[in-house]
Amino acid sequence: MLFSYPIGALNQNWLNKVVVDMVLAGMNAIDARHRPLSWPECLPLERRELLAQRTGLRSKRSNFLREYRKLTTAERSEVRTAILRQTALPNVFSDNAPCPTLASLPPSIHASVSDLATYLFGQLSSLKQDGGFLRDNQYGVIYRSNIRHCPFCGLNYFRAPEAPRHALDHLMPVSIYPFAAADLRNLPPACHECNSTFKRDIDILTSNDGLRRRCSDPYAGPTYSISLAGSQFFKGNTVGGYVLPRWDIVMVGCDSDQAETWDAVYQIKVRYARDVLDADFLGWIKHYGGWFLCEKGSGHTPDAVAAEIPRYIQGVIQDGYADRAFLKAEAFKLLNQACLDPHIGEDVRQWLWCFVEYAQ
Ligand SMILES: [Zn+2]
Repeated sequence: MLFSYPIGALNQNWLNKVVVDMVLAGMNAIDARHRPLSWPECLPLERRELLAQRTGLRSKRSNFLREYRKLTTAERSEVRTAILRQTALPNVFSDNAPCPTLASLPPSIHASVSDLATYLFGQLSSLKQDGGFLRDNQYGVIYRSNIRHCPFCGLNYFRAPEAPRHALDHLMPVSIYPFAAADLRNLPPACHECNSTFKRDIDILTSNDGLRRRCSDPYAGPTYSISLAGSQFFKGNTVGGYVLPRWDIVMVGCDSDQAETWDAVYQIKVRYARDVLDADFLGWIKHYGGWFLCEKGSGHTPDAVAAEIPRYIQGVIQDGYADRAFLKAEAFKLLNQACLDPHIGEDVRQWLWCFVEYAQ
C-alpha cells in the first residue's frame, strides 16, 4: 500500500477481542468440565451494559459452545489454534507462520462460527460509542486526518463521512478467517474498485500456489512509493499513433514480498500501466505542450522545450495523490531522464517539441 492509516482509527477496536475472549473462556470451562458462565455474566463488566441486550450474540455464543462441546480433544485443539492465530493481528500480517482457515476445522462447527462472524461484523454498524457507530467512528478518524484517497491504489477518492459508506475491506476474508471478522485492524476502508473488483474474497495470507505470504498492516505498513525510472521510452504500446514508454513499475520500500502481495491482490501494476499511464500519458504531454506555450511562447528549440520539464514537475504537478500526481510526476521524471539520454535524448526532445508546435 502507498500509505497507512492513523493508529487512532483503532481506538474503538474492542468488539472482536471482547467476544473472542468470551468464547475462549467458555471453551476453557467446557475443557475443564465446568459449566460456562451464563448470560450476561460471561460479558466483561465494562461492556456488559452495552452488549447484554444483544440476544443475537447470546444465541450465537451458545450455539458455538454447544457444537464445541461435541468435538474431540484433538478437534477442540484445532479450533483453539485457529482462533489464536486468526486473531493475532497485526502479527499475522507479517509473521509468515501458518494461519489455520475455517475449512481446516471440523465441519460440524462451521455454521456456528460463520453465524457468529457475520453477526459480529454487522454489529460494527449497529453498536454505538460516543454517538457514532463503531465503523463510522473508525472512518471519521481516517477522514479527519486528511486522507482523501484509497491507500491501496492511490487512484480513487474517498467519500466524506456523511456520504454513503465505502465497503470495509476484509483483508483476511471472513469466509476463510471468521475469527477476525470484526477486528477493525482487518477492516481498512478501501475504494470500491479495490474492494469489489480486485480484492474480493482473495486470501491475502495465501498465494494462488497455496503458499503463506505476508502483507502490509493497513495501520503500520510497510508502505511503498512508485518508481518508473526503469521504463523504456519508445518501447511500449502504441496509442493514438504514438509509441508510449514500456512501463517498468517498481514498488520502492524495504520489504519486497509484502509489495508483491499488494500487487498480486490488487493488480496494482496492471492498473497503473493500463488505466493510468497508457491512458493518460499523451494527455499529460499535450498539457505540457500547452503549458510551455503559455509560459514561453512559440519558436523555441527542442532543447529549450525539454529544459523546462523540471520546472513543470516542481511547479505544476501537484504533490501526493490528487489527480494521480504521484504517477504523473514519475512519468515526467522519466521523460526528463529520456531527454538527457545520450542515445535517444535527441529523438525524445524532438518528439516532445512536436507537442508544443501542435499545441498552437
Ligand atoms: Zn483503491
